[in-house]
This record gives sequence, structure tokens and C-alpha cells, in this order.
Amino acid sequence: MSEQKKQILLVGAGLAGSLLAVYLAKRGCTVDVFERRADMRLEEMNAGRSINLALSVRGTHALAEVGLLDDIMQLAIPMRGRMIHGTDGSHSFQPYGKDDSEVIYSVSRGELNRRLMTLAESHDGVRLHFRQRCDGMDFTQRSILFTDEATGRSYERRGVTVIATDGAGSAVRQAMERAGHAHFTQDMLAHGYKELTIPPDDGGHFRLEKNALHIWPRHSFMLIALPNPDGSFTCTLFLQHDGDPGFSSLDTPDRVRAFVALEFPDALPLMPTLEEDFFTNPTGLLGTVRGYPWHVDGAAALLGDAAHAIVPFFGQGMNCAFEDCTVLDETLDEFGDDWNHALHAWQERRKANADAIADLALENFIEMRDSVADPHFLLMKKVGLELEKRFPEYFIPKYSMVTFHRTPYSVAKQRGRIQQDILEKLTRGATDLADIDFTRAGTLITDRLRPYAEESGSAR
Ligand SMILES: Cc1cc2nc3c(=O)[nH]c(=O)nc-3n(C[C@H](O)[C@H](O)[C@H](O)COP(=O)(O)OP(=O)(O)OC[C@H]3O[C@@H](n4cnc5c(N)ncnc54)[C@H](O)[C@@H]3O)c2cc1C
Repeated sequence: MSEQKKQILLVGAGLAGSLLAVYLAKRGCTVDVFERRADMRLEEMNAGRSINLALSVRGTHALAEVGLLDDIMQLAIPMRGRMIHGTDGSHSFQPYGKDDSEVIYSVSRGELNRRLMTLAESHDGVRLHFRQRCDGMDFTQRSILFTDEATGRSYERRGVTVIATDGAGSAVRQAMERAGHAHFTQDMLAHGYKELTIPPDDGGHFRLEKNALHIWPRHSFMLIALPNPDGSFTCTLFLQHDGDPGFSSLDTPDRVRAFVALEFPDALPLMPTLEEDFFTNPTGLLGTVRGYPWHVDGAAALLGDAAHAIVPFFGQGMNCAFEDCTVLDETLDEFGDDWNHALHAWQERRKANADAIADLALENFIEMRDSVADPHFLLMKKVGLELEKRFPEYFIPKYSMVTFHRTPYSVAKQRGRIQQDILEKLTRGATDLADIDFTRAGTLITDRLRPYAEESGSAR
């Protein structure tokens, strides 16, 4: 590795930036991380973003690689499936995987970020610089511009390789676009989100089933809830900005209460701070960022949400960003730390997969808010898990490929389409598992799918 290339500057000490700092430190790089916000380990901060996240195999794999998984698992709450809440207060459970080994984990975003930062700083050569805002980059001069938020002083850094992990609104990405190095689109959803809380009961216990991701699907909108270690749930309401119902029409405490009473009657008594949460917490925006290339001549690259922000409905944004780090590390191994060629190969490997998970995440919004309440969809889910048991070498449900396997997202998307078609054929006119012709299933599967092991490969 040449001495110059060992100097890496990361913009953003969020989830991806903090993890990447660890990966790079382990390679012997000197890493300076410039973060706009203050050190969250010193200040209590809640920027209104989701305070817990669903962690799945791509994320756990990366955390295991950097040696943090056991630590994070102490905080993680396994969620074995979806608990669907009806408007009549009824609820039903749908397992995510084939057995209890296939679960996703609810993890505190802040705690995960804090522990990644602390791990990064424990390595010689990693320095975190807080309240340093990146304002842009001059790619010809290879100079990156910052403002010190504490003093207002502007300054530049030169001659380092920059990796921008500064999230969906990346300043470096915008600079790349302005300089004509890349073209990106940002497609915003008509829906936004708002975080609400279900606190623990008086004894500190969970007020809903702990080991589930709760969903109140209501076709054009939905409420979800993920458990926290203190017995509370963080709820997220996904709703259109405009229209009725919409965030803009829920403009008084009475309207908010009436809406929740009508649509989520069993949740209402569990939310004593509903109105306060609703009007204190910001309404978040949701969108998909796509574009290319992600790097400029070995001088700068985009990683994580900065390169490919997606909507949160598959719970994969962070998992995908973590996988970016894993694959970059593998690619640097392969290219003997030739950064320019490695970054080029890495972006080619990741682009199709980032596009695929962006599409899958948008499709999953419809599944979560709508299909999970449809008996035919539920039958297809059951049949999918049964086919996995009977034909494990060929059929792995799409959700499982994305969440429990490190199958490339593009393969999961492509095999998922074929499998969906097979499921539709098999379940036509059926109402129960007993109605399914599994001999026909075997023929359809082996005719149309290659053995899973041939395509599941590494997560590139
Ligand atoms: C409601 C919601 C729910 C989600 N749920 C899940 C989930 O369950 N599972 C999952 O895997 N993903 C989930 N995600 C996605 C996940 O939050 C993101 O994919 C993940 O945070 C991306 O990490 P990142 O490090 O790339 O970006 P970020 O986490 O956004 O970090 C970017 C960092 O850069 C800093 N920064 C920004 N601009 C500058 C600048 N100009 N200069 C210096 N620093 C800067 C920021 O302060 C921040 O620290 C969810 C997202 C949302 C909105």
C-alpha cells in the first residue's frame, strides 16, 4: 500500500462511516472522520430519525468481521415475525423464517452508532472530528472543504482519498454532480414518517408481544412498532404528506387522537404521549437516491446512503451500507490496495445490487401496508416456507434470501420474481396448504430455477 493511499478521510461518522473506519483501520490505514454533528456519546441526541433499526444477516456479518457482534447482541431484541393488528383489535402472527434461527433484531440506532465510534477510536490511526461540516469538494485540486461548526472557520484538506458516508443528502455527492462527474436522481415518496412511542407498563414490562415487529396495515398507510430493551416500543407512522388522511390534515391534537382511535384502536390506549409525540417529532421524508458513478478517479467515493439511499420498508438501508463496507474490504484485498482500481471494481459490483434492493424496498411497502392482511398472500407465504422445507436446494423465499442469506440482492430480486410466479400458479384456487400439489411444485421449481448454491454466491 502506498503511503499516500493509506490516508483516508471519511465524511460522516454515522453507521456506515463508523463501521468503515474500523474496517480501514484494520487494514492499517490512517483514518480521519469528519462528522457534522456533535459527539453523540457526550450529548443526548434524537434527530427524529428511527431510534431503532432491524438488523439482519448482512449487518450481523459485518459486525462479526469487526469483532462487535457479541457486544451488539447484548442489546438486540430478536423479532421472530410480524404481528399483524386488525382494525377490530385482533392480531395474528406470521413467522419471518423457517424456524427460530431465522429472526431479525431490533437494535438501538444510537447505541449501535456510539459503540461503532468507540471501537473505531480504539484503533491507532483513527481520529473522529466532530462538528465539522463538509461543504463540498474540488476534484481537480483533490481538496475537500469544511466548516468548523463551533468557530465558523472554513478550511480545506488536500491529498487524501475521500470516502463520503454522509448519508442521503451527501454534500460530496452534490459536489460530484455539480462538477459533472456523476448524475443522480432523488425520487421522493408521497409518504413521510413520524415516530411515536409505546412506553413500558408501570412494572417496566412490554405492552405488546416483545419478540415481534408489529404492523397495523391499512392499505394506503401503516403503523409499525419495534421493541426496545427498556420495555418500550418505537412506533413509526407511515402516511401520505397530503390528502385525507395525511400529515397535513392531522393538524390538531383532537384530529390525531380521532384518527388513531379509528385506525389503530388497540394502540391508542398504549400511547399516553401520542399528541405530544405527534407534534414534537418531525415528519421525516422518504426517498430513493440512484445514480452513477460512485467514485471519481480514486480521489473520492460515495458509500452507504450517500450513494444509494432507499426507502426503509425492507429494513435493509443500514444492512446494505454495512455490506458495502464488507465488499469494499474484500475488493481491496483482491486489488492489493490499489485504491483506484479497487473502487472502480467495487462500485461495479455493488451498483446492480443497490438498484435491486431499492426496487425490493419499494415493493415491500405495498406488501407491508396491504398484502400482509390478505389471506391469499398469507397462503403464498406459508407455501413458500413449505417449499423451502421440501426443496431446500432450489427454493428460498425472497424475504429469506434478502434477510437471512447474503445472496446478492440482484439475484434475490430475479429469483424472487420466478418464485412469485410459481407460488401464484400453485395457489390458484387454493385456500390451505392441503390444497397444494407438491409434485407439480417440484416440476415447476426444477424447470425454472437453477440450484440455489449456483447463484447465491458472495454478497457482491
Ligand atoms: C424511518 C427509517 C427507518 C429505517 N429502518 C431501517 C432498518 O430497520 N434497517 C436498516 O437496515 N436500515 C433502516 N433504515 C435506513 C438506515 O437508517 C440508513 O440506511 C443508514 O442510516 C445509512 O447509514 P449511513 O451511514 O450511510 O448514513 P447516515 O446514518 O445518515 O449517516 C450519515 C452521517 O453523516 C453526517 N453528515 C451528513 N452530512 C454531513 C456533512 N455535510 N458533513 C459532515 N457530516 C455529515 C450525519 O450527521 C451522519 O452522522 C431506516 C431509515 C429510516 C429513515
